[in-house]
Amino acid sequence: MIVSTDIEGVRMAFLRLFEDSLRAADTERILSNLADTDDISQIERALPPNDLSPGYRQWCEYILWLESMISANVTFSLDADEAEGIRILSAARQQFRNDHPQCPSCGTMQSSRTSRRCRSCAREMN
Ligand SMILES: [Zn+2]
Repeated sequence: MIVSTDIEGVRMAFLRLFEDSLRAADTERILSNLADTDDISQIERALPPNDLSPGYRQWCEYILWLESMISANVTFSLDADEAEGIRILSAARQQFRNDHPQCPSCGTMQSSRTSRRCRSCAREMN
């Protein structure tokens, strides 16, 4: 299968990348707490799973790069799959923001829509 034409697969891959980056900060904190442990399995459990296939990861990273170039006013003539990739990225980002509302006080993205208190400043979420 050609990755760039798998719309649903690319959408899921973008969501996965966003989830990973949201968790990266948490992971760093957990790992620093584990700094003195020599229990490798504990460290492995703290790391986000890395099961996104390299083809999807590379395509998504390429589309993110393309988007950043376009927003810096670099002009490209896009192939159809690149244009579609940017559209999917935009839709996936919107879905991710809907699924992870920001705290109105501190702006921290929450783990889910059902979070009752901000995971950073503990403000009540509605
Ligand atoms: Zn907050």
